[in-house]
Amino acid sequence: MADSTDEDYMRRAIDIAREGERNPGGSPIGCVIVLNGRIIGEGHNMTHGRHDPTAHGEVVAMRRAGETLQNWELRGATLYSTLQPCGMCTMASIWAKIGRIVYGAGRDDVHAMYFEDRHLDTDDFIRDAYRKDLVIEGGLLARECAELYFKPDEDVPVEEQANI
Ligand SMILES: [Zn+2]
Repeated sequence: MADSTDEDYMRRAIDIAREGERNPGGSPIGCVIVLNGRIIGEGHNMTHGRHDPTAHGEVVAMRRAGETLQNWELRGATLYSTLQPCGMCTMASIWAKIGRIVYGAGRDDVHAMYFEDRHLDTDDFIRDAYRKDLVIEGGLLARECAELYFKPDEDVPVEEQANI
């Protein structure tokens, strides 16, 4: 898959998100991590199934990538996520020394229930990081990715709202 494009990897992340939606313990946030044209880790959100608040798709994928490389440093890797990574996942990406984060839907494209804070922009984490070689790009296949989620003005039942 050395010739695969950003879009190909994001489409894979969307497929994984849909798997997460079908999995009773998962939810539709998909992530793929690629190094030198090879997928080294992927995953969808598993917080319910694993009873683990840190089991976001990005963290699940980072753990698998670490196992693949037998190394917690994922230097030079690109992380694709269907939704703008939260503060935890963005900071974990910085610690993992990931080189590039590409996300689909941004926080303004979806309902606020997907984020635990009102105003924090995780892009600022990247700007303020000591590392200057980390790049973040949003909006790839944003429309397709946003279709996985509740819309910004959608009336989401309270019991379904993750951040309450
Ligand atoms: Zn997260």
